[in-house]
Amino acid sequence: MKFIDEAKIFVKAGDGGNGCVSFRREKYIPRGGPNGGDGGRGGHVIFQADASLTTLYDFKFKKHLKAKRGEHGRGSQQDGKDGSDIVLKVPVGTLIHDEETDELLADLDKQNQTCVAARGGRGGRGNAFFKSATRQAPRFAQPGEKGEERALRLELKLLADVGLVGLPNAGKSTLLSVISKARPKIADYPFTTLAPNLGVAIYRSYPPFTVADIPGLIEGAHKGTGLGDKFLRHIERTKIICHLVSLGPDERETPWERFCVVTKEMENYDPSFRKRKQVVCLTKSDLLKGEEDSYDIARIFKKKKYPIFVISAVTREGVGELLEHLAKSLRQ
Ligand code: GDP
Ligand code: MG
Repeated sequence: MKFIDEAKIFVKAGDGGNGCVSFRREKYIPRGGPNGGDGGRGGHVIFQADASLTTLYDFKFKKHLKAKRGEHGRGSQQDGKDGSDIVLKVPVGTLIHDEETDELLADLDKQNQTCVAARGGRGGRGNAFFKSATRQAPRFAQPGEKGEERALRLELKLLADVGLVGLPNAGKSTLLSVISKARPKIADYPFTTLAPNLGVAIYRSYPPFTVADIPGLIEGAHKGTGLGDKFLRHIERTKIICHLVSLGPDERETPWERFCVVTKEMENYDPSFRKRKQVVCLTKSDLLKGEEDSYDIARIFKKKKYPIFVISAVTREGVGELLEHLAKSLRQ
């Protein structure tokens, strides 16, 4: 499944129903008065945040969305029914922009939060409404208003407590599968993760927290070279960045250099990343020969004042300490 975290769609709210021109016609009642009913309101286009969704994938196939029009008014004072609204479910964390003006219409960051993105047209008044002392038999009614039409850009910014970042192959998906029930795709080639996976981690009696596996960043991601920049936006809203660096012997460069590549990407995308809470997690410690090695490597990070953890998803070394640290920092 391809991951879609931005979607451009076109919505149209329902038109209002027309008011009706009608006169009472019954036997023995000559010249009955006007009795045309009002038209119904057109349906709104409404967005609603739904925590069970994690991508905007559905909108790849639903690009044109329309709400129903209101019914026209009828004779005998019968008003038309309102057109039904359409409610489009989107993941929590979806931003809705007007594509033309770029105006932010809504930031749906809470479960069940809604926003009306296009208003249905008002129904027109029937001729009964226009009757007055001086105008006993109006031969006109109002047409219904047009429903709003809008080109929209939906953008998803994931809301997670902890975002796992790191080069492809760093062990992000594996860690997520070890600390939560999420079952992300794991493979030893880059970019196995195309959609961010969310999992809920539970450590002892601490409150559960959400962890997002954010797919591999690569050099130049902020310029849109790889998949990376599509995902950088997700990290913006995570409270703690957990930066994974593989200790595996077959990786290019040193762990410190690998760390710098990703950090630079994040800072280029948004300079405020520097100020974000970040922990460094050296992964795959089981692949190191001697314990000394990881101490040496860790020392470089410690000098730079990053909280550092050495873990192995295989032996579970260090995983408990990492979780405890994350759970504690989130409480602060
Ligand atoms: P991602 O690209 O960062 O999501 O990396 P993955 O989680 O897909 O892991 C890449 C490869 O590293 C897979 O073959 C994993 O089995 C392997 N791997 C992940 N964590 C560990 C670990 O702690 N020890 C060892 N030996 N291999 C690991
Ligand atoms: Mg992965």
